[in-house]
Amino acid sequence: MVKNDPFANATKQVNDACDVLGIKDKGIREYLAMPNRILRVKIPVTMDNGKIRVFTGFRSQHNNDRGPYKGGIRYFNPEGGVEYMEREVMALSSWMTWKCAIVDVPLGGGKGGIYVNPKTEKLSENELERLTRGFAYKISEVIGPEKDIPAPDVYTTGKEMTQIMDTFSKLNGNKYSPGVITGKPISMGGSLARNVATGLGAAYTVREAAKAIKLNLKGAKVVLQGFGNASTFAGEYLEKMGAKVIAVSDSKGSISIPKGAKVSKIIEHKQKKGSVVGFPGSKKISTEELLTTKCDVLVPGALENQITAKIANKLQCKIIAEAANGPTLPEADPIIYKKKILVIPDILANSGGVCISYLEWVQNNMGYYWTFDEVANKMEKNITKGFKDAYALSKKHKIDMRKATMVLAVERVLEAFDQKGIWP
Ligand code: NAD
Repeated sequence: MVKNDPFANATKQVNDACDVLGIKDKGIREYLAMPNRILRVKIPVTMDNGKIRVFTGFRSQHNNDRGPYKGGIRYFNPEGGVEYMEREVMALSSWMTWKCAIVDVPLGGGKGGIYVNPKTEKLSENELERLTRGFAYKISEVIGPEKDIPAPDVYTTGKEMTQIMDTFSKLNGNKYSPGVITGKPISMGGSLARNVATGLGAAYTVREAAKAIKLNLKGAKVVLQGFGNASTFAGEYLEKMGAKVIAVSDSKGSISIPKGAKVSKIIEHKQKKGSVVGFPGSKKISTEELLTTKCDVLVPGALENQITAKIANKLQCKIIAEAANGPTLPEADPIIYKKKILVIPDILANSGGVCISYLEWVQNNMGYYWTFDEVANKMEKNITKGFKDAYALSKKHKIDMRKATMVLAVERVLEAFDQKGIWP
């Protein structure tokens, strides 16, 4: 048994949604929870010193009732080891199924990766390429533009995606196959707006949440935890909607900027000094002080497990937009709900990323490419509708938004499953 099994959490969320929907049938619950397939592969690599090293890789394909599997490939070595990683990718593939269903893109859920930490293990560029191409070869039979479309994730970038696409294309008789993978550089068939997608999508969901609770975003105070891709773009787009960033953090510390500051100025400072800490007019604060700052919108956009029960009791915000994956512990959810803080759960708040990945795949399949605004507008429609549908369900069933998004997603997957039935 794996400790703190993430797949057990994913299964519990499915069962909770089934409880709300009155689905008692154990078979249907199991069908929804279990991945369709988990591929575990051995990847032998000749290292630069001539020795062979064997890596372990995974691809979990959770559900494809609504369309091809979709989800990232991470290079990581979680503390629990290889067995833990297998359970982790199973859980992550399940969350991808629900994420795609919420924003109503016709894709299913997948996730994969290799048990390796390219940063701490200092693999050379050549070793990494051999590893990536070896993995692509081993999973090549189960991926493809109509089967399963991976994307970048922890410690993988457009570079690895290009190598996977190239390996796949060559294995398939040199058939140019950009649609086998997303998150590609623009020159390799990537999509405009993909770089800002997660933050922009989070900002759209905040705009809808603000409307729902009648909060005026003009002058609304925003706190960002983390200052990377997801959180900086969320901050910049919220700023364009009239809000003001009053506290931020990164791995070196947290700061409060009582008068507020332009995100672009904080970025400039971080680029020069290597951290947000020391920003002119700011005061250094603790992580707890950052998260519990009195504000309108809190965007946890960095790490998992940040909002504990203790923090939840002290929160002073009106909206939480979970740009990061899993920032809130289950123990905190009932406390936050009781405090009437509106949570936009991760599978909705950060779904702008997968939404634009979907649009990248569509453009690859068409061989025709849209402008930034065309892509962003399409994503806006999907994510806005996802928020509205989930919010309506939360009111209807008197449940929090985390449960409501799962109920919505499970309903949509079941609708497809009901049409197809079981065969063979
Ligand atoms: P990133 O690497 O660009 O940024 C991470 C930020 O977190 C950095 O600023 C880093 O300094 C900060 N950080 C690290 N440790 C910290 C700490 N202890 N306290 C405060 N800040 C700390 O990563 P990202 O792509 O922005 O991803 C952030 C989160 O968003 C992750 O949970 C990721 O899974 C999720 N997410 C990202 C995307 C995407 O498209 N980028 C999509 C979906 C979900």
